[in-house]
Amino acid sequence: MTEAQCSSQAATAEPADASDSIEKAAERLRLVLPLLARYGLPADPIHYGILYHYVAGRGEALASELEPVVGGERTLTPELSRQLFARYVCECDLTVLDPIRQNLQQVLADTAHQMRESGGETARLRSSLANQAEALSGPVDAQALPRLLGELIGTTVSLGKASETLESRLTSAAGQVNALSEELDRLRRESATDALTRVMNRRAFERALAQAIEQARGSPLCLVMVDIDHFKRVNDTFGHVVGDKVLRVIAELLGKGVKGRDTVARYGGEEFVLVLPDTPLEGARAVAEAVRRTIERSRLKRTDTGEPIGVVTVSLGVGRYRDGESAEEFVHRCDVALYQAKRSGRNRVALAP
Ligand code: GH3
Ligand code: MG
Ligand code: MG
Repeated sequence: MTEAQCSSQAATAEPADASDSIEKAAERLRLVLPLLARYGLPADPIHYGILYHYVAGRGEALASELEPVVGGERTLTPELSRQLFARYVCECDLTVLDPIRQNLQQVLADTAHQMRESGGETARLRSSLANQAEALSGPVDAQALPRLLGELIGTTVSLGKASETLESRLTSAAGQVNALSEELDRLRRESATDALTRVMNRRAFERALAQAIEQARGSPLCLVMVDIDHFKRVNDTFGHVVGDKVLRVIAELLGKGVKGRDTVARYGGEEFVLVLPDTPLEGARAVAEAVRRTIERSRLKRTDTGEPIGVVTVSLGVGRYRDGESAEEFVHRCDVALYQAKRSGRNRVALAP
């Protein structure tokens, strides 16, 4: 018999994106800055974020939306920028970025300026170099040779220094830009996570389900709707704080009951949902049954007083995706199965029609 305390933490909703190395970020920054300049876009986190994703090649969908912009057939209006940012970079409240926003804007402007300056300086030095090489290619007075060689070496060293300065400016800008990317990754994970149970939230579930349906392409995709039985009684008897802790433990037990590409999400209130890609109906029923048993056998206790909370059980509705049905229809069929499990006595698994 397992014993679960009401103090455990559940797993987070999404694995962290591996953040890019400084070198890679510098490389992308080198590509992004001229694009910002070419389209006359402000060097702010929104445009930077969109173009960073574009040059990083993260998603054909963004590329196909941006190609007309790059090709000059479509204008990137502020509204379109906001939409693209929300869709492809981060569906989060951008005001939280304000503290780093100004700093980044300055860094990007400085770096772009430095690139232009350095471009001019490099062009001037290159032309001197060409003249000096030209002077050396003809007959040269032996007395003038040391001076010419001296100038040549001087120009070459200056050229090296100009690109070194730009290099170090780019590296430091890239470091700050990387910090912004990490912050965006963190916000993106946060905006997909349910604050109480730390599993995926409803909105992220809807996106995950749509994606799972799109990727299923004939392979079996199953859904398990989970609802805690008589949860109102837990709240009424022990209060909402304990109720909240029970929700966290249930989320954690659900997380332990799935693996691989499976997803656990909080559907709402005391309802959860499991998305099981590449899983036949029988497999999904087995997962649901194992989860049901694990929860039934957990003996929950209050962490403060050690007082037993009693047996908490769940009812589950399991269904397999039918080709052509919408996500809503699929969820609804599994909900009907869940209702059936409730009606026939709770603490059981029912299959969708
Ligand atoms: P059933 O077996 O039919 O599902 O009964 P039930 O009591 O679980 O269902 P009902 O829908 O009547 O009540 C759900 C309860 O879940 C009521 C609500 O207060 C509680 N609840 C929903 N969200 C939260 C939450 O975030 N925290 C706490 N503590 N309780 C919640
Ligand atoms: Mg309910
Ligand atoms: Mg319930």
